Amino acid sequence: MHNPGDRHSFSTRAIRAGHRRTNEGEQSEPIFATSSFVFENAAQAAARFAYTEEGNVYSRFTNPTVRIFEERLASLEGGSSCVATASGMAAILSTCLGLLGAGDHVLTSQSIFGATRLLFTNILRRFGVEFDFVRLDDIDAWREGIRKQTKLLFLETPANPLTELGDIAALAEIARSYDILLVVDNCFCTPALQRPLDLGAHIVIHSATKYLDGQGRCVGGAVIGDEELVGEKVFSVLRSAGPSMSPFNAWVFLKGLETLELRMNAISENANKLALWLTQQPAVKRVFYPGLEDHPQYDLARIQQRAPGGIVSFEVKGGRDAAWRLIDATEMLSITANLGDVKTTITHPASTTHSRWTTEQREAAGITEDLIRISVGLEDIDDIRADIRLADLD
Ligand SMILES: *Cc1c(COP(=O)(O)O)cnc(C)c1O
Repeated sequence: MHNPGDRHSFSTRAIRAGHRRTNEGEQSEPIFATSSFVFENAAQAAARFAYTEEGNVYSRFTNPTVRIFEERLASLEGGSSCVATASGMAAILSTCLGLLGAGDHVLTSQSIFGATRLLFTNILRRFGVEFDFVRLDDIDAWREGIRKQTKLLFLETPANPLTELGDIAALAEIARSYDILLVVDNCFCTPALQRPLDLGAHIVIHSATKYLDGQGRCVGGAVIGDEELVGEKVFSVLRSAGPSMSPFNAWVFLKGLETLELRMNAISENANKLALWLTQQPAVKRVFYPGLEDHPQYDLARIQQRAPGGIVSFEVKGGRDAAWRLIDATEMLSITANLGDVKTTITHPASTTHSRWTTEQREAAGITEDLIRISVGLEDIDDIRADIRLADLD
């Protein structure tokens, strides 16, 4: 169904993969704003429902615009199947519903997206799935945490907001030796910078809301993998439960994919400059960025990622009060918890993205009161630096 073995290079596939021009000869991908599709006759309707004939049925699970996005993203990640979802969280939920059942155990990291942790602990635990949390960078802890009931390992790398890395190849090897699945949320890097399936992961998850869109417009998500895990198991959740992507949003994400590689490279360059500058500021205690040579996993980042990405976090002297003052003193940066936008955004994780965690959970994950996260965009780096008024903090 998909064309991952396409002979074209990444940037070409990001622009052209998945679109089969209709009889109208359109240059840009069409938006099929239709909830259902019409059959030639009753027999064709029956065949489409039985899957003995391929074709469109109903936009909860078959929409041509959404399919272009799915094929394009599958191609970029190197998977043979992709299911687009209404949000990144819907992608994670659909993956869990498709692959897990009561009694199963998931091993994941302490450093995962705030809502992902809550989905695991507050919702999926109620359905009998068990979760344990280990340090993302502690390979032995992952190995030792595996039990007989463990079905999958779940991680994000780099993690939010402290940019720790998980060693995808090493964890994939562990997963394979125990015959369990490795699921990687590739939100921070996107396939332009990191391809987990190439490193041995079984499934890649995206919040398309972030860099895939890249301009802060729509909420969406995706699951990428092989035909059996994604094309059948995750797809069957989409079909019956309906956390589907709208065709309009799929079209916006298609436009985002066209410039993905350009943006990720330019954003990484800006972020690198910002991180270096922050290390030289007296009011800054610590900077977290995989592109800095003193990042504990700098070498792994260079092997695993093509560039360090756009998320830079740092601790300021003076606790929450100083962090909030610095945020409030910005004039250009957007104070928002979203990330992955061409507009630079700034947030205080302890009181926003991670505020629903307990204090102990935050401490274990290193999310301190003086921590600020910046998602670096594409404005001029001089303007970004000028808006972060560290010199005014005493
Ligand atoms: C934002 C985010 C999600 C959730 O995505 P939504 O589109 O907001 O549902 C999941 N994982 C990571 C790493 C994220 O940053």
